[in-house]
Amino acid sequence: MYYSQSMARLIEAFKRLPGIGPKTAQRLAYFIIKLPREEVEFMARSMLEAKRKITCCTLCGNLTEKQPCEICEDVRRNREVICVVQEPRDVLAMEKMGEYRGMYHVLQGAISPIDGMGPEDLKIKELLERVKDYQAKEIILATNPNVEGEATAMYVSRLMKSLNIKVTRIAHGLPVGGDLEYADEVTLARAMEGRREI
Ligand SMILES: [Zn+2]
Repeated sequence: MYYSQSMARLIEAFKRLPGIGPKTAQRLAYFIIKLPREEVEFMARSMLEAKRKITCCTLCGNLTEKQPCEICEDVRRNREVICVVQEPRDVLAMEKMGEYRGMYHVLQGAISPIDGMGPEDLKIKELLERVKDYQAKEIILATNPNVEGEATAMYVSRLMKSLNIKVTRIAHGLPVGGDLEYADEVTLARAMEGRREI
């Protein structure tokens, strides 16, 4: 037994974070113990408060502290264009680009048979409802440029085609196999400009 029980539990907690292996978890745990108590309390409180206050927007699925979210509530935004993304963090990536003035719809994942994710596990029914509510003219598919993202884009595009809606897919200036959130603003802006109808 190298660690006390509390230390072992703290290391275990850090290991649950994405991209954190046993070594990094151990380093972080030692770092935390060295910090002043107020610092640790600030971190713990921030986590709990964010978790308590932040939910998904009931309309678009973006993260928000009020319902609906600020993007959905903004009357200056164009409701006839809906950009479909996989995760709430993708909305942030698109918004940072600063050029898109339409709406968003977060699917909360992508079709991935390996992970047991089918179309019914995604917010596709909700997307169809919004398309009708907003009388949308264009759906921009901005799912990730990897196998799951492409499969999801194909599935949604087929559904939209049956409703006679223009469907575009963002261009692949994006690194294939990458995540939307890691694309820089210029690359993302170019991918949006170069979107083509599918
Ligand atoms: Zn919203």
